[in-house]
Amino acid sequence: MTTPQRILISMIDGFGTDYFEASPLPTLNRMAGSGFSQNVEAVIPSVTNANNVSICCGVLPREHGITGNYYFNEADGQHDYMENAEFIRVPTLMQRAAAQGVRSALLTCKKKTVNLLAGGCEIAIAAEAPAEEYVARHGPAPDIYSREINYWLWRVAIDILANRPDIGLLYVHTTDYPMHQWAPDAPESIEHMETLDKLHAEAAAVAPDAAFFITADHGMNYKRRCWDLGKACANRGTPVRFAMSAEKDRYVKHHRTFGGAAWVYLNDPADAQQVAETLQSLTGVERVMSREEAARHWGLLPERIGHLCVFGDRDTVFGEMEGEYEDLPEGYRSHGSPHELQVPLIIYNYQDALPPAERFVHNADLTHMLYRLTLPTTCR
Ligand SMILES: [Zn+2]
Repeated sequence: MTTPQRILISMIDGFGTDYFEASPLPTLNRMAGSGFSQNVEAVIPSVTNANNVSICCGVLPREHGITGNYYFNEADGQHDYMENAEFIRVPTLMQRAAAQGVRSALLTCKKKTVNLLAGGCEIAIAAEAPAEEYVARHGPAPDIYSREINYWLWRVAIDILANRPDIGLLYVHTTDYPMHQWAPDAPESIEHMETLDKLHAEAAAVAPDAAFFITADHGMNYKRRCWDLGKACANRGTPVRFAMSAEKDRYVKHHRTFGGAAWVYLNDPADAQQVAETLQSLTGVERVMSREEAARHWGLLPERIGHLCVFGDRDTVFGEMEGEYEDLPEGYRSHGSPHELQVPLIIYNYQDALPPAERFVHNADLTHMLYRLTLPTTCR
């Protein structure tokens, strides 16, 4: 039996197409030029967990079940971060690889990603809290709120490529802190992307046999205003049971967990029309969809989104605040809405046949075809 080709999945968090265009990036352009390249759409909500799991399972949230960074349990009224592997309803790429005898390494900046995606992995490293052996070998990892932590993560990936040929699949997931901090044309951002580009070149040099699969989870835009939808509805005589930003996560320094998609849960189904009218009247609310409509339109799992699904315009985000509304400070950048969906997709040096170009619509399609031969017929 021949050994399957080594595969590196590079998920560059927050790498919208505008970041690809704003920096020279000779390596990524060379990989795109000699391999397969196409701009694709992220999945809604354009937040990290929903897209990371989509890329990692090769299917949309309707199938894998991760519909955001946060969730509300309608049965008991509890709410919590959606970062436990038990939420994922299909095998991940790493689990599919393991079923074929291929060993995997998950390298991510954030601990939450290890909680979600480490199943089936031989190695799982969060740069935020690395094991002693990695600190001894690579030095302490930089702060989670830095761009340098991404460089540390990639140096570990290159070391594994160079010294652990038994690892057949690497999933490398950076943090989007630099994109929250800097627009595509800012010098810091160009330095960040150029360094990542060089690290991709080093990785290809130490592993010329490996295929590179590159995409992103979402883009990033400046935002001007934020609504607390629970308070806004209550203040207008149409109270709701619960309202949440689908982006809410533990990493508050980036964006205070505000995002451009929100789920609204009603006290009574009969309130739907009036609440929708209130939401639609708020400046910056671009679209209010029923649960069924949003699930159908965006490929979401109905029981894990709100009765109403609210999407901001390019300038508007949602989240929990002291009052119902805030003008955001200049320079504030975030994502979550349908305005952060455009991301690159690049496949380089893959030896097997690829599906036709029209099959690559979403970032999730990047990995759809990988390790499918002995896919279990039941999930987990
Ligand atoms: Zn992200």
